[in-house]
Amino acid sequence: MTRRDFLSTSSAAIALAAADTLLAAPERKTRNLVLVTSDGLRWQDLFNGIDPLLMKEKSTGMGDSGGASRRERLWKLEPAERRLALMPFFWGTLATQGVVLGNVQKGSSVQVTNRYRVSYPGYSEIMTGRAQDEAIRGNDAVQNPTPSFLQFVKDQWKLPKEKVAVFGSWNMFHYICESRRGEIYINAGYEESALPEADQQVALMNKLQMQARYIDDSARHDAFTFGLAFEYLRNIQPRLLYITFDETDDWAHSRRYDCVLDSIQFVDASLRQLWEWLQNSPTYRDSTTLIVTCDHGRGSTVEDWHSHGEEVHGSEQIWIAIAGPDTPAMGEVNGGPEWHQRDIAPTALDLLGVDGANYAGMLGKPIATAIK
Ligand SMILES: [Zn+2]
Repeated sequence: MTRRDFLSTSSAAIALAAADTLLAAPERKTRNLVLVTSDGLRWQDLFNGIDPLLMKEKSTGMGDSGGASRRERLWKLEPAERRLALMPFFWGTLATQGVVLGNVQKGSSVQVTNRYRVSYPGYSEIMTGRAQDEAIRGNDAVQNPTPSFLQFVKDQWKLPKEKVAVFGSWNMFHYICESRRGEIYINAGYEESALPEADQQVALMNKLQMQARYIDDSARHDAFTFGLAFEYLRNIQPRLLYITFDETDDWAHSRRYDCVLDSIQFVDASLRQLWEWLQNSPTYRDSTTLIVTCDHGRGSTVEDWHSHGEEVHGSEQIWIAIAGPDTPAMGEVNGGPEWHQRDIAPTALDLLGVDGANYAGMLGKPIATAIK
C-alpha cells in the first residue's frame, strides 16, 4: 500500500465513522429551551375545556352571575370546541405545531412516578428525571439533593449563571430547582427581580407584586411571575428558561373553579405572547423548544376535583406538550406507550443535544414520539 493509498483509505474510514456518529446522534436544531408548568392544571380541563360537572355548582364558585358569564363564553357541545374556547393558543397553534401527550380518553397516558402526587415531588421529578421518595417527602422545605437538569446543562455548556433562569410564583422553587444555592438565576415567590437592571417595567412589577397580595404568603400572582420572566427573556436572553405558574392550583384548593378557568386562560395568553416573541426573535426562532406540562393531576368529581395527593384518584395523571424544531407536528397523540413525568428531563437533554448518560441517576427516557 502506498502512502497515498493509506491516506485515502483512512480518510474514507474517518468519513464512515463520522457518518456512523451522525446516525447515532442526529444533529439537533434546538439550542434553547423554554419550560412552562401550570400547577395542577387538570388533564380534564386541558383536553375537554370547561367541565360540565363543575360549571353549575355553587360549591365550585360557578353558581352565580360570574359562573353564568364564564359558561356563556366557554361552553360548547363538543370537547374539541370547548378546549379551543378555553385555550385558543394552546389548541389553535401550539398543539398543531408539536405533540400533546396525556389524553387518557384517546389512549395516551402520562403519569408521575413519585408516590406523593403533590407539587415538590412532581417538580423535582421534572427537574431531575427521577422520583426521590425518600429525600423529598411532600412539600417540606428541603434543598433538592440532586442537581437539576438545568444545573447539568449549565455545567456541560459552561454557561454563566444568568443564562439559566427560573421564574416561579411559588417560593419553593429556590429549593426545588438547584442542589447548591445560587448556581442558577431563580426568582420565586414575593421577590424582586434584579435583572434586567434599571428596567422601568421590572421596577414597577417589583413594587406591585408586593401590593397585590393574594391567597397566602408563599406564592405571588402569576401575572408578576410572567411579566418579570418576559422582561428577563427579552433583555438577558437565557439559553434555558423555566416559567412556573401556580394559580391553577391555588384557586382549585380554594374551590373556585371560576378563578381556575381564568388562570388557565392567563396561562394560555402567556404562552401565546411567549411563543410569538420567540418566533419573531432572530436569536430564538427555529432553535428553541417549548415544553409545557404540570406537576400533578387532581380529582374528577364534584367532591374531589379541587384536591390531589396519594389518596385522590387521578392525581398521578398529567400531560405534556412539546413544540420546536426537532419535534414533529403531530398534534394530539392517540394511543402509544405510556410516558412519565421523569421522562421530561431526558427528553429536554436529548433535544438540546446533551448526552443524558453523564447525568448520574436519571431514570426516565427520552419521549421518542416528541423527537424527529
Ligand atoms: Zn396543590
